[in-house]
Amino acid sequence: GTVKPSNFLRAIIERDLEQGFQPARHFAGSPGDAAHHAAGPLDPAKIRTRFPPEPNGYLHIGHAKSICLNFGLARDYGGICHLRFDDTNPEKEEQEYVDAIKEMVAWLGWNWESAAPSADGSAGGATANHLFYASDYFDLMYRSAEYLVTQGLAYVDEQTPDEMRANRGDFSTPGKNSPFRDRSPDENLARLREMRDGQHPDGAMVLRAKIDMASPNINLRDPALYRIRRATHHNTGDQWCIYPMYTFAHPIEDALECITHSICTLEFEDQRPFYDWLVEHLAQGGLLARPLPHQYEFGRLNLTYVVTSKRKLRQLVEDGHVSGWDDPRMPTLVGMRRRGYTPESIRAMVESTGASKTTAWIEYSVLDGYLRADLEGKAARAMAVLDPVRLKLENYAEIFGSLDHREPCQAPAHPHVPELGTRQFSLGPELWIEREDFLEVPTKGYHRLYPGNKARLKYGYIIECTGCEKDADGRITAVLAKLVPDTKSGTPGADAVKVKGVITWVGSHEGIATELRLYDRLFTEAQPDAGERNFLDLLNPDAKRVVQGYLEPSLAQAQPDQKFQFERHGYFVADRVDHRSDQPVFNKITGLRDSFAK
Ligand code: ATP
Ligand code: MG
Ligand code: MG
Repeated sequence: GTVKPSNFLRAIIERDLEQGFQPARHFAGSPGDAAHHAAGPLDPAKIRTRFPPEPNGYLHIGHAKSICLNFGLARDYGGICHLRFDDTNPEKEEQEYVDAIKEMVAWLGWNWESAAPSADGSAGGATANHLFYASDYFDLMYRSAEYLVTQGLAYVDEQTPDEMRANRGDFSTPGKNSPFRDRSPDENLARLREMRDGQHPDGAMVLRAKIDMASPNINLRDPALYRIRRATHHNTGDQWCIYPMYTFAHPIEDALECITHSICTLEFEDQRPFYDWLVEHLAQGGLLARPLPHQYEFGRLNLTYVVTSKRKLRQLVEDGHVSGWDDPRMPTLVGMRRRGYTPESIRAMVESTGASKTTAWIEYSVLDGYLRADLEGKAARAMAVLDPVRLKLENYAEIFGSLDHREPCQAPAHPHVPELGTRQFSLGPELWIEREDFLEVPTKGYHRLYPGNKARLKYGYIIECTGCEKDADGRITAVLAKLVPDTKSGTPGADAVKVKGVITWVGSHEGIATELRLYDRLFTEAQPDAGERNFLDLLNPDAKRVVQGYLEPSLAQAQPDQKFQFERHGYFVADRVDHRSDQPVFNKITGLRDSFAK
């Protein structure tokens, strides 16, 4: 639709653009800081947003929300969006994740390498790389910590973690001051430098802000700023043995990159007072430039029938419940791509949710609706038989003169897109049809094959069913029928005989044997991590079914990741990892219409 979904952030940005961001920003810090020139020349009239993933796992559908929101607002208002790796926690972060995150942001259609086009579609400014690493700012972060110490705004606390926890208090109890809280700035500075120089073991002490242990906001009860941790960092190696805490690092990152609107999820709302406290003090000290960034919070996006916590997704992978991060059942972007979801469908779904102050629960069927809307107009059609049974045409030689005759048939690759061309296939004496297209005894309203009934082979002839063959156990091994002469689709007189049933088929002389992976919801409940039960107990055992079927010959050239509509079955994609032309593998993306949970 053309109606923009409600998005309170737009109102804020429009207000701010009207008022202008004066005075123009410039980077503080010494010229030696990577941050000093990181973001290039600054335009005071431009908004700047950022997507700041921690490279400790793969992106999921919730991240797509944040990506599209940040890059989308920058695009819509002629601004710039940074891709910033929030890599301040060396233990869990790896280059593998950095690479995967870049790949998926680009896959979703966003580009951090050039200024985004402005809202009217005209080209943006000069090309610039807006890719940043928080670890490039460790020097300035450390100097900021020293500055706070010299101002009496931070202290080194040597309480044990247990003591610190006990003295923090809780919602109903104010905290207690640490016995180390009243040390002089000089003493604290000496201790902080000892921490930095590796003179104390991991965990022996932390640097804390000195704010208010009685604050009703627990985040203001002297939050930790730095900890000692000997861990090799993927970017800075062993240069540091102290690392900044997220709550300290993030506001500094935003300010150094001149972010105007720092958009995050609701759980950070209580952190905003500390965010403001920190950037204001560092600006007073000349370490950060004004105007300062502001944090705005919006509700997370959750998708039904999956979990979107990195920790839980990791558990699914590590415990072998799925085949990997890119398992097509996973709500990771690599998994959804492999399943066959398109970037267009994910963007459309995410954009339809706007931004609000409450968590958005999106039905999986809504995503499937966008997938169908995207593929309906562009995916080539094909016939596929998923549950094959043989159909024998008893009068074939009589009609065509020989069992070796192949009667050519054709169909448009797409009913409304002639540019996609024509599919060619042929009839022979034996075909594959769906097992469900024959009943010995028809149910009410059943119009397909049963003894004595006529139905049309799609794009082919009308046939009349004569019976079936069975094995010793009574299982049907073949359906028998006769071709009705002069009824070929597209020929004069084809409609002379009226039938109600149309069935899809693949010639057994030319059908491509294929593996078909039929996917369904990963969990049996809409909100698997909401209740009391362990989410692992709610895994859907039928979320993956593998069957062997047959495809029409036009699919012989299918490329990995190419998407099709299998007539009457739904949308399928050639698996980007396992599909080979001599060993085809197709994944079911979704059905033709919503058949789930109804
Ligand atoms: P998780 O909770 O899955 O571990 P995270 O928030 O810790 O995710 P980050 O790498 O820090 O992972 O996330 C990068 C950005 O994506 C953050 O700004 C975060 O707020 C945002 N984000 C993460 N999950 C969602 C979600 N479900 N909806 C909207 N934004 C999200
Ligand atoms: Mg995070
Ligand atoms: Mg998290």
